[in-house]
Amino acid sequence: MNIHEYQAKELLAKYGIGIPAGHAALTVEEAVAGAEKLPGPLYVVKAQIHAGGRGKGKFKELGADAKGGVRLAKSLDDVRKDAGEMLGNTLVTIQTGDAGKQVNRLYITDGVDIAAEYYLSMLVDRKTGRVAMIVSTEGGMDIEQVAHDTPERITTITIDPAQGFMPHHGRAVAFALKLTGDLNKQAAKLAQQLYTAFMDLDCAMLEINPLVETKDGKLLVLDTKMSFDSNALYRHPDVEALRDETEEDPMEVEASKYDLAYIKLDGDIGCMVNGAGLAMATMDIIKLNGMFPANFLDVGGGASKEKVTAAFKIILSDPAVKGILVNIFGGIMKCDIIAEGIVAAAKEVNLSVPLVVRLEGTNVQQGKDILANSGLPIVSADNLGDAAEKIVAQVKQAA
Ligand code: ADP
Ligand code: MG
Repeated sequence: MNIHEYQAKELLAKYGIGIPAGHAALTVEEAVAGAEKLPGPLYVVKAQIHAGGRGKGKFKELGADAKGGVRLAKSLDDVRKDAGEMLGNTLVTIQTGDAGKQVNRLYITDGVDIAAEYYLSMLVDRKTGRVAMIVSTEGGMDIEQVAHDTPERITTITIDPAQGFMPHHGRAVAFALKLTGDLNKQAAKLAQQLYTAFMDLDCAMLEINPLVETKDGKLLVLDTKMSFDSNALYRHPDVEALRDETEEDPMEVEASKYDLAYIKLDGDIGCMVNGAGLAMATMDIIKLNGMFPANFLDVGGGASKEKVTAAFKIILSDPAVKGILVNIFGGIMKCDIIAEGIVAAAKEVNLSVPLVVRLEGTNVQQGKDILANSGLPIVSADNLGDAAEKIVAQVKQAA
């Protein structure tokens, strides 16, 4: 799960980490009121979307010369004007894709006198199974580009979970940033605080770009992105409360209510499968037969009739879906229960596209009988290859 910049900064501030003062705003009036609470005279109006690259982004509705999603404002009037231009409009950045994201929230923050910009991120490194800190003197830029052009300017420091964060890790971070004197001490302390926050909050990723050195010698987090391990969210109701569903795919939001693992994809064939491995195999075999899956959907091992119905509705609510392939192995979940779910859902949603169902496992015959006697145009398949061939043929025929 991702959160907004201002939410991440508020979380980090609780760990003693330095951030510029700021206030979130949902309206132009709130933006101006937020700015009034800041010392001024330089304010920064920042679009809050779950994507980076906002500064260099462009608003769809505004001209090509219009400013991006991070704007310096020199007066309250400027704040009012910038907030008015941003709210409700669509910001396109290198991370949003062409569709862009609608800006519904702003963050009004102190303008900082920047002496230098640095990069610092933390993630769970799958190769080592440890938390890694990635540090670079090249802040404020696209880190992938830095990694490509000047990899020697990136340092990775891994932390042994059994040992935890040690003072030498902090010194290594400060050294990699080439900081001396008091700034060196600040960097070491910041690294320690970030590690504590990362572990406490069960983060999956934390990126600070840029981390800045101010002209009066302080390290501040100027921009940050934070994401959390969804499997650990139950331990953090306060973090879960920060979820902004308007930033997520509506179908994925609906799926998560039923605990369904659903990912929207670009193809035409909707898939409903139990088990991630079988779901991957189903997607592969659809491709092998010349078409593409419209989604990944794992209903899980112990799915109920309600879950199957919900899954079915989600697939059908995608206008791109031209046919559905259900591929279920009834182990924990019996085939007749699945069949009942499929029939109930198909009737409820007025199934308008071809549906091929392949059932295997416990009570398979009862399941097939339910489908055959449903009065619905459901095509049964005997195995995975047969199922994929049938759905592709049906969709092509219907086209
Ligand atoms: P994004 O990465 O989405 O473009 P950032 O918050 O990193 O957004 O802002 C882009 C750039 O704008 C920063 O690298 C920094 O130079 C400048 N900037 C951002 N916030 C401030 C601020 N509070 N004061 C001064 N400059 C800022
Ligand atoms: Mg940034």
